[in-house]
Amino acid sequence: VHPGILPPDANKLPGKTCLAQLQNTGCSFEVEHWCLGKCQGLFVPQLYSHPDATCIQCLDCHMMFSPQKFVLHSHRSPDKRTCHWGFDSAKWRCYVQLSRKYAESSEEKVLQQCLEEMKERFSLN
Ligand SMILES: [Zn+2]
Ligand SMILES: [Zn+2]
Repeated sequence: VHPGILPPDANKLPGKTCLAQLQNTGCSFEVEHWCLGKCQGLFVPQLYSHPDATCIQCLDCHMMFSPQKFVLHSHRSPDKRTCHWGFDSAKWRCYVQLSRKYAESSEEKVLQQCLEEMKERFSLN
């Protein structure tokens, strides 16, 4: 895992054990989505062993989600001005993106590539 990837208050939260386990699995990186609100999560590629595998952990509540469920999960209310017509969680590949925290960083390209590979792993097209 990359240093600094855990939220600073992780030690106080019940998800600590789970997060520690995730840390030990090796590569993981933060992703986010902005549909129907906003949510940031930790994507653990090693857990993505089948299309519905729970491999993304919400950084807010520490619950685990499959990619498709993750884009439906949010702790913030959607922007009322935003039109969500046509939103389809099956198209999660269009919504899940690399966390902006990596923007302009030396890791950005590598992680972006990693994320694209994840999206292609069980892609039917
Ligand atoms: Zn969303
Ligand atoms: Zn959550």
